[in-house]
Amino acid sequence: NRKLILAQRPVGAPDDATLRLETDAIPEPAEGQMLLRTVYLSLDPYMRGRMSDAKSYAEPVAIGGTMIGGTVARVVKSNVKGFEVGDWVLSFNGWQDYALSDGTMVTNMGKNPEAPSWALGVLGMPGLTAYAGLLKIGDPKPGETVVVAAATGAVGSQVGQIAKIKGARAVGIASGAEKCAYAVDELGFDACIDRFADDFAEQLAANCPAGIDVYFENVGGAVFKAVLPLLNANARIPLCGLIAMYNATQAPEGPDMSGALMSTFLVKKIKVQGFIVFDDFGHVYPEFSADMMAWIKEGKIKYREHLVEGLENAPSAFLDLLEGRNFGKMVIKVAEH
Ligand code: NDP
Repeated sequence: NRKLILAQRPVGAPDDATLRLETDAIPEPAEGQMLLRTVYLSLDPYMRGRMSDAKSYAEPVAIGGTMIGGTVARVVKSNVKGFEVGDWVLSFNGWQDYALSDGTMVTNMGKNPEAPSWALGVLGMPGLTAYAGLLKIGDPKPGETVVVAAATGAVGSQVGQIAKIKGARAVGIASGAEKCAYAVDELGFDACIDRFADDFAEQLAANCPAGIDVYFENVGGAVFKAVLPLLNANARIPLCGLIAMYNATQAPEGPDMSGALMSTFLVKKIKVQGFIVFDDFGHVYPEFSADMMAWIKEGKIKYREHLVEGLENAPSAFLDLLEGRNFGKMVIKVAEH
């Protein structure tokens, strides 16, 4: 059983010393347990937080512990009622080939699910994040302008498409011409701006002629700086993630902006609401799932995976995710099925 162990807490970006590949025996399930074989492992930005022992909403992974993570797996041996050998499951095996489970928090997907890995993306945690954050906090009205960065990623791609379904104007931000073309041509965004363009702020302003009503915050940093002056009165900011800061080791240079920021929120009466998807919106899952499945069937939602083969490649793929080298939802294919 190969597993990736947290060897050292990273300072800044994770590097070769952060994770270590170890191998031990495949465990035997006891009474009331089953053995799961990981087929797909989801890589998500929140995992950077679990590598750190800074205070957060969840406990860090212990040094020497297996990295945690959502997985789609198959039942190999089962002593758990309701799970048979060969069943596909949505589970939390972490970064390893095999895991034991007593069935807690494991969803049985049956013998023959369509596109099983989608349970880690468009039909799972990132999809719910986009749906609930946008609709329950952002509440976009027809004709309003919604802006989202990381626009071709797991969450952002769904935010833009759901905004369009609700009749809003969707403006994306992503890195590079290829991602931006995909956002407009395939996902149906009205515009997408390259965050590395020299005139990024000007292009964003030009593509939001009526200002910004909903800014779905995935990234923070320089993108947020360009968004701030464009926010309309009564704008809403679902505060989902701040990936630009996850590897930061110090505060950004320059003057303290907190006074100006709070004053903008006050005079423009802006609603900013942070959320942690399953803490706040677990109850939205049935509604999300019904809408999303219908939209996919109707061709209104598209989904792209960035599939990387091999558990041993998960550490470098994770770094790619944090640095924007993923193009779509980052998933590791751990085994053939
Ligand atoms: P993505 O698939 O979107 O991948 C991350 C993307 O972030 C990269 O592809 C890159 O896109 C962008 N990015 C990286 N660094 C920067 C930077 N410095 N400035 C701007 N953009 C950057 O990841 P997810 O969709 O899984 O996650 C998106 C956000 O949502 C993250 O912040 C994550 O933490 C958050 N999240 C929060 C949840 C919650 O419950 N609150 C739940 C799930 C996710 P590009 O290079 O194209 O700009």
